[in-house]
Amino acid sequence: MNLVSRLEQIAQEKPQKVAYVFGQTESTYRELNGAVMKFASGLEKIGISKGDHVALLLGNSPYFVISLYGAMRVGATAIPINPIYTPDEISYILNNGDVKAVIAIDLLVPTLAKMIERIPQVEHIIICETPQGKENGIVLPEKMKSFTTIIEQGDTPFEGPSLADDDVAVILYTSGTTGKPKGAMLTHKNLYSNAQDVANYLKFNESDRVIATLPMFHVFCLTVALNAPLMNGGTVLIIPKFSPAEIFKIAREKKATVFVGVPTMYNFLYQYPDGKAEDFATVRLCISGGASMPVALLKNFEKKFQVIVSEGYGLSEASPVTCFNPLDRPRKPGSIGTSVINVENKVVNEFGEEVPVGEVGELIVRGPNVMKGYYKMPEETAHTIRDGWLYTGDLAKMDEEGYFYIVDRKKDMIIVGGYNVYPREVEEVLYSHPDIVEAAVIGVPDPNFGEAVKCFVVSKNPNLTEQELIAYCSEHLAKYKLPSSIEFLEEIPKNTTGKILRRALKERFTSSVQ
Ligand code: AMP
Repeated sequence: MNLVSRLEQIAQEKPQKVAYVFGQTESTYRELNGAVMKFASGLEKIGISKGDHVALLLGNSPYFVISLYGAMRVGATAIPINPIYTPDEISYILNNGDVKAVIAIDLLVPTLAKMIERIPQVEHIIICETPQGKENGIVLPEKMKSFTTIIEQGDTPFEGPSLADDDVAVILYTSGTTGKPKGAMLTHKNLYSNAQDVANYLKFNESDRVIATLPMFHVFCLTVALNAPLMNGGTVLIIPKFSPAEIFKIAREKKATVFVGVPTMYNFLYQYPDGKAEDFATVRLCISGGASMPVALLKNFEKKFQVIVSEGYGLSEASPVTCFNPLDRPRKPGSIGTSVINVENKVVNEFGEEVPVGEVGELIVRGPNVMKGYYKMPEETAHTIRDGWLYTGDLAKMDEEGYFYIVDRKKDMIIVGGYNVYPREVEEVLYSHPDIVEAAVIGVPDPNFGEAVKCFVVSKNPNLTEQELIAYCSEHLAKYKLPSSIEFLEEIPKNTTGKILRRALKERFTSSVQ
């Protein structure tokens, strides 16, 4: 079984079941599978075949779902890319990823038209019409075709080639721990097994209506909010752009049962003045991942909206999920929970040996979800996957009941006079202060101690001072962990999946001292 064969199976068993809702549009499983077949067949007619690479420069929309499943169905490898990347970032991935066809939103036509010389191996650019683009009346340059034309050319039924478990279904470009983006190759088996393992663990079923507002080009949304519900006959509520007002409205009107978000989203929802528990009355589960969920926020959110928040953990290289807080055993705030079905997690020292319970080490992972490797980067692959274990680059500890706690990323650890300080523990304390809305902590050079703890916060109280906040921290933290300085900001820079852009904060600090 793989994602496309399972979609086909559900389309036969429950043809009338609604697969997704997008604005006023609804599509049944039969319609979705039909569109996927037609698109796959249309791709084949323009010369896309097994093993070719097809990039998706798309936001959350039916286009994304049909393109992803259509590309897989014709045996191609899909490469989802953030459509707001710069031309340099996009052309790097298109070239590194040997992309033969690009499927893009029409707003990117001018950008792609300018880039055409730099991406000679791209033979086709397929444009998805958005209302804005239509109003602009675009004229497609040569090489460019519309999505509708491809669908119209396609025939059903379309069989497509047979797909092996080990064939690469998707390549996801991720920065990993260092350097240029690397393409994590995820096979059909990786993606299908992780979608089903997560679904079983979090008890997804046919009656679930899952909000997909995180970007689908990121693995968290792809597996948890798209593939997992679709593989179980649920309904995906596709939301192209996150806003608290929209989330509460959709949750209420479309009777959502699951919300999938990153901590920043939970923070926005929590702070939104018009959000009420009634809006989330049908929501049985809120899922958080992608970055650490501050304990204070998790507890406040659960109380205000009367919901369960389950935090989990994953990374692109693991398709992505390795751990989640369980539903049938206690959830532990601050923890990423226990290993999901079929996936093993272990905390090891620098020699790869398991450390005792409660000790900090690197989290390593093994299971059917672990990527095949990085595309065209055998050395990076050998460094990241050793003896069948994926080295995550995250520091963690495990308690006696098998719950894991992410301490921080290895590279973000701050060393103050020889002592380790994890940004997360300082951030947790800052978040527990009633005036603090957001917090981020970095290490900065210090002439006496090597490094010092520098904090950035967003406060809702304009009168709160740096001294007061440091005094508050001193009640909760050892002296060497205390902030050397705290800067008040309007917002903390973060990427689309809620990860703090620590590099941007470091640059800000460096330019302020020059
Ligand atoms: P990505 O490959 O973009 O999904 O990023 C994966 C990284 O996100 C992991 O290696 C972690 O550093 C971070 N991450 C994901 N989930 C969590 C979590 N629950 N707590 C802390 N960090 C997380």
